[in-house]
This record gives sequence, C-alpha cells and structure tokens, in this order.
Amino acid sequence: MGNDAPARRREFTRTIEDFTCAHCHAEVKGNGYTDHCPRCLWGRHVDVNPGDRASGCGGMMKPVHAVYMHGIYIITYRCEKCKAEKRCKAAPDDDTGLLEALAGRKSYPITPTNRAKNSSS
Ligand SMILES: [Zn+2]
Ligand SMILES: [Zn+2]
Repeated sequence: MGNDAPARRREFTRTIEDFTCAHCHAEVKGNGYTDHCPRCLWGRHVDVNPGDRASGCGGMMKPVHAVYMHGIYIITYRCEKCKAEKRCKAAPDDDTGLLEALAGRKSYPITPTNRAKNSSS
C-alpha cells in the first residue's frame, strides 16, 4: 500500500526540557513539569496555564510569596516584565529553606556572612 506518510515525528507529549536558570545559572533538569529553578525558585513567564507554554512574554518570574497548604508549598510569582502574577506548586526538589523564607515560616540563614550586605534605603 502506498500509504507512506512522511516520517515526521511530532512530539506533542510533555515537553521535557533541560534549561539553564536565567537567574542563578543553575543547570536544571527538566522532567516535563519543571517551570522554575529548584535552587533559586525563579521561573520564566512561558505558561498561561501550567505547562502550555502559551505565553509569549518570556519575562522572569520572581517568587514573591509562598504559602504552605496541605503539605505542599504554593509559590506566588510576579513577572518582572509584564507584572502578571501566577501561582504554582513547588516541586519536590525545590529549596525548602527558600520556600520557608518566602512563606515567612522561619528566618532562613542565607549564608550568614552575606546578610549584612542588604542595604536598607
Ligand atoms: Zn535559579
Ligand atoms: Zn510576563
């Protein structure tokens, strides 16, 4: 049967992408759900809904707040570029200390020697 479709492979399943964090330059191993850096928690504004990569913004999403609910952290992000806010669940690999600090649960000793560097205006 002459039914040879061009051998084109489309991968519309989960996009598994490794990326380098644009904020702290950590190399992040994607697992298909990864939308932020587990080390500094910053993300990119690429999704409208989680995983859809439908936003053309591409700005940096800053983690501004976190809440601890039902055993999981929900991180609130604000886009540095378009100021959109969105929430997403923390991933198991995320830096717990940072999450706790964002949630205000306890003070997080961010490399004690560097703390005095914070110049108050
Ligand atoms: Zn990072
Ligand atoms: Zn944005």
